[in-house]
Amino acid sequence: AGTGKFFVGGNWKCNGTTESIKKLVDELNSVMLEEGVEVVVSPPYLYISQVLGSLSNRIEVAAQNSWVGKGGAFTGEISAEQLADAGVKWVIQGHSERRHVIGETDAMIGKKSAYALSQGLGVIACVGEKLEDREANRTTDVVFEQLQAYADAVGSDWSNIVVAYEPVWAIGTGKVASPQQAQEVHAAIRQWLKEKVSDDVSSKTRIIYGGSVNGANSAELATQEDIDGFLVGGASLKGAEFGVICNAVT
Ligand code: PEP
Repeated sequence: AGTGKFFVGGNWKCNGTTESIKKLVDELNSVMLEEGVEVVVSPPYLYISQVLGSLSNRIEVAAQNSWVGKGGAFTGEISAEQLADAGVKWVIQGHSERRHVIGETDAMIGKKSAYALSQGLGVIACVGEKLEDREANRTTDVVFEQLQAYADAVGSDWSNIVVAYEPVWAIGTGKVASPQQAQEVHAAIRQWLKEKVSDDVSSKTRIIYGGSVNGANSAELATQEDIDGFLVGGASLKGAEFGVICNAVT
């Protein structure tokens, strides 16, 4: 396991309205969270201010993306310094939907992560293989390539990075990785960090699992040695269920 608290992120993706987000924040504010868990939620940009103004300060806010460098003439983008200025503490990078739907490359994701870190944000660095990669026994090849792109850009300081292993075939599909499947890749990631970055980064970095985590499967996943938390999509839109997942901390 990494050091630090069990880390659970809720990725709301492109979901919600003023009204539904008010309801979700109210639900989250009424959840009793275990002390040993660090919790962040990631609303769409438009609702970040609403959430920061209404959510308990027990829970931090993450953005779902950020621009690759300093802001300026980049229509439609939001910069890391703007996020930090607004009170956002984290940003998700390299989510599979940005890689495979929007077309972001490993190199761009690495650069965006490095810039976000330079502006004081923590980075939730996502990696994960597609079903065809797994079926071709290329799971760790793909994951290690993605990790290498982060390492090339950010260097040796991973103290503000949480790695999220999210097999693409498990995201939004209801097909969760088994605890053994997830543990196997988490252990491989930890070993990769040891060989390619440092012993220190390997032993300290939290590696969280994402892909169809819910209130019913989170407890067993959380018992695995190298699962240090979760990144949750669909189930993070339900406050009480998200609370159950957060409290799966062991
Ligand atoms: C995600 O998008 O990060 C995710 C894990 O989604 P879901 O929990 O819905 O599979």
